[in-house]
Amino acid sequence: LGPTLCVGEILVEIVATTPGCGFRAPQPLIGPYPSGAPAIFMSQCGRLGGAAALVGCVGDDDFGQLNLDRLRQDGVETGAIGIDPEYPTGSAFVRYRPDGQRDFVFNLAKSAAARFGWTAGTEALCDRAGHLHVMGTALAMASAWEVIDRALPRIKARGGSVSFDPNLRKELLRDPDILPRFARMVAECDLLLPSGAELQQAAGVEDAEAAVAALLQGGVAEIALKQGEAGATVYRRDAPPVHSQAFAVEEIDPTGAGDCFGGAYVTCRRLGLPVAEALTYACAAGARNVTRRGPMEGAGTRAELDAFIAATGYRA
Ligand code: ATP
Repeated sequence: LGPTLCVGEILVEIVATTPGCGFRAPQPLIGPYPSGAPAIFMSQCGRLGGAAALVGCVGDDDFGQLNLDRLRQDGVETGAIGIDPEYPTGSAFVRYRPDGQRDFVFNLAKSAAARFGWTAGTEALCDRAGHLHVMGTALAMASAWEVIDRALPRIKARGGSVSFDPNLRKELLRDPDILPRFARMVAECDLLLPSGAELQQAAGVEDAEAAVAALLQGGVAEIALKQGEAGATVYRRDAPPVHSQAFAVEEIDPTGAGDCFGGAYVTCRRLGLPVAEALTYACAAGARNVTRRGPMEGAGTRAELDAFIAATGYRA
């Protein structure tokens, strides 16, 4: 039914290597790595052999080319990615606190990452897309939201499905437009991919079990709840929950786990895999990604994920 479409920021990520040092002193930095939640998601879709197309924008610079090269290498359609002649590719600088928590310094709003909109190319893409995946970061981005607002009814009208990863970072909640957009996406999605308390936020209730019931009752067909090192659980209306434990790995870089999980789950389901199998691949994709430095360096092909699963001796 056509490619999975995602809309939003494309960035490079540069990482400080000395925990606790911040960026106030010179130190070795690593990167640039291709990044941006939609790009990571798409990269994982493409690597698993799912048809995937990204709408966004990069600058006319090495950082933009790095992203385009990687996406194409992973099989992602890049025809609807603009190249802005005036603004540089978006960037994120990541630093680690001594306790392992991350802080980000973003250059997004005044970069090429935010400089795109609805075009004839995007319209043509929507007219053959089979699925729309919406990232929470897009709710706070005028350019991305404009495209999503127009793409959503078109893709649904042709029988396409919708998934939504709230990815509600604290700073996003300061924007007054966010909550109504969030509520709309919860109401429109077939598959919701929350993490932690996003489940309760989506349902507007405190209790997790009641939240699942309310969301399924409200029309969400599947909820894939990401639980970090506790694995993940899929809930559906007329079937018992399916849980997968997490794969035991040494975490080198947590960035991108949720996006790889989502890219793998959506792609496997779209390729017709049953829930339990799709969930195993999604957990493997998330776990494999945290074993590599860089936000999408660990996204795996089917063969790589099979090898990863076999190497852990894991049984679903
Ligand atoms: P983020 O927003 O940081 O990308 P998230 O909160 O959306 O992540 P997580 O629950 O952290 O999503 O990760 C998604 C999935 O990846 C988890 O359900 C789990 O299966 C796998 N995963 C993540 N971190 C680890 C880890 N340290 N070890 C093993 N598996 C992990």
